[in-house]
Amino acid sequence: MKIVATIAELRSLRPKLAGPVGFVPTMGYLHEGHLVLVRQARAENPSLVVSIFVNPTQFGPHEDFKQYPRDPERDLALLEKEGADVVFIPSAEEIYPPDFNSWVEVGKLAERLEGAARPGHFRGVATVVARLFNIVQPDKAYFGQKDAQQLIVIKKMAADLGMDLEVIAVPTVREPDGLAMSSRNTYLNDEERKQAVVLYQALNLAQKLYAGGEKDAKAILRQMTALIQQQPLADIEYISIADAETLEELDTVRPPALVSMAVRFGKTRLIDNVVV
Ligand code: AMP
Repeated sequence: MKIVATIAELRSLRPKLAGPVGFVPTMGYLHEGHLVLVRQARAENPSLVVSIFVNPTQFGPHEDFKQYPRDPERDLALLEKEGADVVFIPSAEEIYPPDFNSWVEVGKLAERLEGAARPGHFRGVATVVARLFNIVQPDKAYFGQKDAQQLIVIKKMAADLGMDLEVIAVPTVREPDGLAMSSRNTYLNDEERKQAVVLYQALNLAQKLYAGGEKDAKAILRQMTALIQQQPLADIEYISIADAETLEELDTVRPPALVSMAVRFGKTRLIDNVVV
């Protein structure tokens, strides 16, 4: 496994990688959710590149960029075990030199849901992913359904900018009790962690109501909200049922619909979703 910190090194390595080249971009502090992406990419491609980069531009000024958990040594050991060929682990200056000044904006899709709650977030995500795609030149790039809107935004960016690669969605990996795996789960204290399972329970409730014939989005959202509010530490930021392609809010639920939410537990902000 080659560990590469500069764009120049990666550029000189890239022609030697047998295609198709699979790519998994991450912010590190790897857990089983990341590793499922890594394994799928490993299985589907003769060459596998993984990046580890905590991207400063996708964090708001009052968000957790500084506290975001980091453990590159452990990450590298895990990736070695999974058989990655190349790990790209650049510094912030390598990705954003002082005169860096080009940004990717994806428009409407990036302004709803997470984009509305975290202004500038998807501009940072789209910009860094575009830059990583140009550096790594993957044939297939793997993203988790856990970050459903990110996946939609990246697919749209790749299509709009004529990028010659396939964006592949990987299902959400969950803890045994249903909580979606996330590097941010480490922020939760014991009581918050116990209560956090309510996100998954609320998504299940939405699916159950829909399967039982309830098509009124407001009615489903009302019941989900009531369930979440039974957990005293849960603070709902948004909860939404939207068209899974346009992300426009639905009055009447019809497939494919994205049921998604952001809920705070103390200082920890969790997101989760399901497509019905
Ligand atoms: P991150 O390091 O949080 O930027 O995540 C890197 C990639 O892993 C993204 O494509 C995420 O959507 C994906 N990912 C993170 N957590 C999970 C999970 N629990 N299940 C599936 N994919 C995940």
